Amino acid sequence: MTHDTHATPSTFVLDWLASQQRAMVDCLAELVNIDSHSPDKAGNDTVADRIEAWLSAEGIEVIRHARPEAGDILEARLPGKSAGHTLLMGHRDTVFPTGTVATRGYSEQDDIGYGPGVADMKGGLVVNCFVLRALNQLPELPYPVHALFTADEEIGSPDGRAFIEQAAKGARAALNTEPGRVSGNVVTARKGGTAFLIEVRGQAAHSGVSHADGASAIETLARKIVKLHALTDYPAGITTNVGTITGGVARNTVAPYASAQLDTRFVTAEQRDQLYQALERIIAEPELPGTTATIKQTSEFYPLEAAMSSALFSRYQHHARQLGFDVEGEFTGGCSDAGWTASLGVPTLCGLGPVGALMHTDREYCRLSTLVPRAQALAATVLDLHTLCVPPE
Ligand SMILES: [Zn+2]
Repeated sequence: MTHDTHATPSTFVLDWLASQQRAMVDCLAELVNIDSHSPDKAGNDTVADRIEAWLSAEGIEVIRHARPEAGDILEARLPGKSAGHTLLMGHRDTVFPTGTVATRGYSEQDDIGYGPGVADMKGGLVVNCFVLRALNQLPELPYPVHALFTADEEIGSPDGRAFIEQAAKGARAALNTEPGRVSGNVVTARKGGTAFLIEVRGQAAHSGVSHADGASAIETLARKIVKLHALTDYPAGITTNVGTITGGVARNTVAPYASAQLDTRFVTAEQRDQLYQALERIIAEPELPGTTATIKQTSEFYPLEAAMSSALFSRYQHHARQLGFDVEGEFTGGCSDAGWTASLGVPTLCGLGPVGALMHTDREYCRLSTLVPRAQALAATVLDLHTLCVPPE
């Protein structure tokens, strides 16, 4: 091994994880068999109960932040010698409605596990739990290791975001166990994305009797949609998409109201700022007298810019190779909580969970034999972050 020796990951940790394959799969089955759709607080809290019980039984400190509406937030903490903790992250919620488990709970065929959220991201939660358990058995950690288990990532982390930002303060690194890519790669860059609701108000009028008295909200919206879509710039990685439109009251009434849902994606924070300015300009531009338009942000994810992951990635790649698997970094247009930590200046790496695919569909799967090696590579990386500079609080 060419790495500096003080950073050599403990063989104890890697060996212990190697012995946990069956236990990890059992825990995965248990978590998958609890419905935890984002709006389902009870389900998300049941997943939290399970994780809290597993970790507490090992003597790991778990702080439970009770939330009135969203699922409670769990924060596990292992103490360490010097300042600048490492943050593991994961979300407990899924996109699958309550009742899904009753029709298709966890199942297994050879190396493949199926079930709602099996890859996105209950597999990652299991990895985080076992990495914590492995590290907890060491006599001393070089720096603290914290893990955050949130419950609303799939709807844009409206409740979890503040906890993620708080937990990332002063961290030397953030490691997110969203599913590994089907190629086995991890995620070194993600687009940011923001959703908006656009509303246009006009003036109703009978389209036969008093057409000239009306002001069509639909026409104003249509004109704006053309301008909004023109902001798409594929080479730059910017896209805009009006995915739904509604409006009008009847065929023979000039439409007094129309609305649209807009999805935007971008690669850098700078692009985001410029895009927002362009959106505001377009919404404010007069189209038809008597109509007015407003725009409201409904959800937001920050990008994970590649520069924020490169140092961490090379370390992870090194340890993966030591463990016998090759891994590259990938860019994806999909968003995740990794953007929050990266935007705070905390080195961040994503897609560190077990390999999975077909997320958000009923054919979603997780490659079970990747649970142990991904946990090992993650643990080895966590133990090898001495030289990452700690951002100021
Ligand atoms: Zn996810």
